[in-house]
Amino acid sequence: MKLTLDDRLMIEDFQRYLRINTAQPAPAYAQAITLLQSFADRDGFSHTTITLSSGLPVLIISYPGSNPNLPALALNHHMDVVPVADESIWELPPFAGEITHDDRIIGRGTQDMKGVGIIHYHALRTMQRSGILPDRSIYIICVPDEEKGGFKGARLLVEDATFGKLNIGYVLDEGVPSGIKDMLYIKVNERKPLQLRILSKAQSAHASKLLADNPNHQLIQFLQHIVHMHTEQQKCAQALPAGQLLSAHITSLSSGFDIDSGVVNIIPETAYATIDLRIPPAMSMQEVITSINLLRDQHPGISYTISAAADERIDTPANQELFERLRHVIQTHGLTALSLDFEGATDLRHYQKTGIQGVGFTPFACIDNLHGTDEAISIEQLIKGKHIMYACIQELAREL
Ligand SMILES: [Zn+2]
Repeated sequence: MKLTLDDRLMIEDFQRYLRINTAQPAPAYAQAITLLQSFADRDGFSHTTITLSSGLPVLIISYPGSNPNLPALALNHHMDVVPVADESIWELPPFAGEITHDDRIIGRGTQDMKGVGIIHYHALRTMQRSGILPDRSIYIICVPDEEKGGFKGARLLVEDATFGKLNIGYVLDEGVPSGIKDMLYIKVNERKPLQLRILSKAQSAHASKLLADNPNHQLIQFLQHIVHMHTEQQKCAQALPAGQLLSAHITSLSSGFDIDSGVVNIIPETAYATIDLRIPPAMSMQEVITSINLLRDQHPGISYTISAAADERIDTPANQELFERLRHVIQTHGLTALSLDFEGATDLRHYQKTGIQGVGFTPFACIDNLHGTDEAISIEQLIKGKHIMYACIQELAREL
């Protein structure tokens, strides 16, 4: 494959970024920001670093447009990645930025989402070097904490005074690779997380007491309804995309003495569970909470607290308009674009909450291996993705 000097530089920058271990729970943000700043300095972009009230940093790289009064375009990517459970089963080490013999760049974050961040950067670099001045200012925003929900990252950034002054009107955030040749997804909507902590309470007693209340039994009876709710939705997954269905996963259970302690004849006083629900756009958060409340009321001894909930509203018609504009650009590149209701939640929702319009766009047609073993992106896809991103940025930075 023939590579231009610009392609080579993009690949090198990408490899260096992958070598910085920004895996949760201890991402090396300072190192990542130093590297990204060095790219901006090399290429003559101005940049600012904000320290959020959480103590975490955000880097903003700027390319001023010709009309500073127009709402600006933000290209958002998160610097953190998910951890690797077992490095030894990877084809090549996940934090080495190495290239396979068949020209795939392998590493944690290649798809989610350092690869997209590098494409944002190099698309902007191409625009600057071609001497193209967009109507709107463009900002590359590098945020922390997305893999933990963004509550200490994008969620705080949108309330920051420095961010407010940027007058952002549009944002491009992450989507998912399509897995289908010559087709790309544009994420226009996403499910909203609702996370619950369930408590089942009874009186501790000897396990020989027939009539004693048992918090584990109470909890299991309650959870059976949750499992039912979930499996009913799974049955619909043949006909509908997962992003349009409700899911309710029981993610942890705890009660009683440690299983290895040998203590088995005591009925404990409490039992706990956590449930992670994902609510599709067509359902309201309140609707789901009401049905959980009904269920709780039928089960004495059960109570719950909400540990996290995102109930931001999305301006669907505005997203549809953005989608149409991007679809047109993608078509001129000989590809098709499909709109996607996404299963998971991303930082996009934090931006949308403040009225900023945005969609999720990962311009890769490879198999989706987000968070997977041997996460990789081919050099070919990376370069194609950059060209498409460049055209999309030009379109969105244009005054209508
Ligand atoms: Zn991501």
